[in-house]
Parts: sequence; C-alpha cells; structure tokens
Amino acid sequence: MKLQPGTTVVKNGQLVDGTGSAAIPNAAVIITDGLITYAGPAIDAPLAPDARVIDARGGTIMPGLVEAHIHLTYFNVSELQDLDIKFPVEYVTLQSAVNAKTALECGYTSARSGGCLHNIDVWMKKAIEEDMIPGPRLSASGREICGAGGLMDWNPDFRRIGMEGIVFIVNGPEQARSAVRKLVKDGIEWVKTYPTGDAASPDINDHHTLCMTFEEMHAVVATAHNHGLKVTGHCRATEGIRNALKAGYDAIEHGTFMDDECLDLLLKRNVPMCPGLGFELLSVQRGKEFGLSQRVLDGHQETLEAGAESCRKVLKAGGTLGLGGDYGFAWTPHGTYAQEMTFFVNYVGFSTLDTITCATLGGAKMMGREREIGTLEAGKLGDVLVVAGDVLKDISILENRNNLLAVMQGGVVKAGTLVKPASF
Ligand SMILES: [Zn+2]
Repeated sequence: MKLQPGTTVVKNGQLVDGTGSAAIPNAAVIITDGLITYAGPAIDAPLAPDARVIDARGGTIMPGLVEAHIHLTYFNVSELQDLDIKFPVEYVTLQSAVNAKTALECGYTSARSGGCLHNIDVWMKKAIEEDMIPGPRLSASGREICGAGGLMDWNPDFRRIGMEGIVFIVNGPEQARSAVRKLVKDGIEWVKTYPTGDAASPDINDHHTLCMTFEEMHAVVATAHNHGLKVTGHCRATEGIRNALKAGYDAIEHGTFMDDECLDLLLKRNVPMCPGLGFELLSVQRGKEFGLSQRVLDGHQETLEAGAESCRKVLKAGGTLGLGGDYGFAWTPHGTYAQEMTFFVNYVGFSTLDTITCATLGGAKMMGREREIGTLEAGKLGDVLVVAGDVLKDISILENRNNLLAVMQGGVVKAGTLVKPASF
C-alpha cells in the first residue's frame, strides 16, 4: 500500500492514542513519508513548516479502527443459503469489494477475516495492498473447517450440494490435516474452525454442542503451525473453548461460556479473543422481524449474557480483546460495525477508553501487527482517524460516517468528509 510522501500534521484535537493512556488535549500527530514521527501535545511538537495540515476542528485524533472478525463475503444474510449457494463467486467477489470499501469509509483501516467464501479474502488482500481497490489492511482466512454434521454442514445430503465453497467438512484428524494443507496452498494466514455450535442452530448444533473432536482440532493446529499459519475457532461451549486452548489455538472467537480453567489457559499463553457480541443483542432486538424463532432468540439471549460476563472477566484479568464481529447479516449490515463499540460501553460496561483500546491496539494484536498499527506512536504507520467530536464523551459518534473528517492509511487520506468527491 502506498505511503504518503512528505510531511502531514494533524492538529487542533485531543489525542486518544490507542495505548489506553488518558487523552491529551490540544495535540498534534506528525506523519512523514507515511510513518508517524510524533504524537503528543502540540506545544512540544517539532516544527514542520512545509507540512500539509489537517485540522481536527477541536475533535479527536485516534488510530484507525481494526475490525477483528469481518466476513467480507456476507451481504445482508438472512437465511443459510445467503451464506453460500445464492450467488456465484463472481458476484460475491463484487459484493466483497463493496464491503471492503465500506469498511474503510467507516474508519476501519485494518480488518482480520473471520472466514469467507472460496478464497476471496486472499485476493482481496492483494488487491488492497496493491491499491487496486480501497479497503482495510487485511489478514485472510479463506474457507473454514467444521466437523461433519456440525454447525456449518447444513445442506441436507439429498440436495447433493457440496459445501466446498465455504467450508471443509471433515471426519477425523486425517481429513482435518488435508483441509489445512489445501488452505496452505490457498495462501491464507488464519485457519478458521468450528469447535462448537451456535444459538442459530437450536435443534442439532446449539451453543452447547461440540462440532469438532479434540483430535481433529489438534491435527489442524499441528499442520497449520508447521506451515506458519495461525488457528482460531468459533467457540461457544465451555468444553470447546477448553479444547481449543489445550490444542494450541492462537485466538478464540466469541469465548462465550468461559469458566475459570479456560480463563487461566487463555491468560497463560496470552491468547487474544474476539467476542463478536453485539450481534447477539441485535439478533435479540431485531431477529423477530427476520423470522428467527423464539428458541433461536432465547439462545442468543443466553449467549449475550454469558458472553458479556466472559468479556468483563478477560478485561479485568488483563487479557487481549479485539472488537468486531459478524457484520453483514440483514439486521447487522456492513457499514454498521461501530455499533460494536457503543454496545461494549452501554451493555457490557467497558469504559470508553478501554473500548477504544480493544478496537485499535487489541485488534492489531489479534492480527499480529501491533508493531505497525493499532496506536499512534512514533514509528508506526500513519493509519489515523480524525473525528469531529469527543469520542470519549460519546462513542456512538463513530457510528456516523459524516463525523469522520479523515480516514488515513499510511498518511494518505482515503475517506472522510475532507476528501473531495472523485472527479469521474
Ligand atoms: Zn463469524
């Protein structure tokens, strides 16, 4: 991705640097050739007489947000077939490009894939890195892995439809190994698996059901680690979280029913977790409109309450949380990602500052890129969000794109109200 040549000064705003430190009023951030060279009080900033100036208009200067669990190939999903067989790969690819542009316009300068159809996110990542299309810096997952009969194995056999476009359905460790080997060739970074079910499938794969054996999960980890890939999994049930941590998983998605033993295992290796929890509340609130059954809604409510408790425990114990999760359903469309932060403040009870740290540095850690992104500190990439208003007073202002003055990647202003409309 290109870096902005020359020097840019962002000033006239408070600095929330993403490290969790208190905000610095009247701050300045200086970016030279795409990298941050100074972030601190304006009064101490080195002189930069020829610099381009971005005026934060008394608002907030903060790191670009990191969506820690994005599904670029989801597009207004309201039923299972929307996830795989509804559209051909050509059309899904176009939808994904639109979603990537939307994410960037919403202030998400980086995103970690939570799985996608075919191998779209691998190629999307390349297209974004080469400035062919706008989008967040991506880490790619490609297709997912689930045990036979598990959550993702939903198409009945009589339809004779394979699931190869979205997920490898595996029976036993041999098949788990062979699925990972295919993903190695696809060029992914994160292997996404399904150790457990979910409230969305109350009959045979609910949130207390296991969808992979420990042996399958261990085979995935051994094969993935051998090739330098990381492994994560959709983990609701306590035993699924425990299996994942004992099998050597590198991250946990959801971590819903986290007991003390799981928490100890999580902290011991400092395994980051992405709760993806706002989805549960939005499903409870809006699911009826979209035909979700009462049993599914009850399951989401149970997931919501247990998940919130797990998040509070992990934060209190000093664990790493990334925010994001599963946007792209009909009731949580792409473009509404920042609801996750408002939800963490209003429902889960995190402080605004902690929430922002999770949504920036936490996400960067989950991506394994915390040395480059996630905070505004000298030496890091100039991925900066300039917001009209005080995000610490009201985090929900981030939900409205019109409040974003500038969204910068490597010092280049890519979106925000300061950008002139394209001339074509
Ligand atoms: Zn997901």
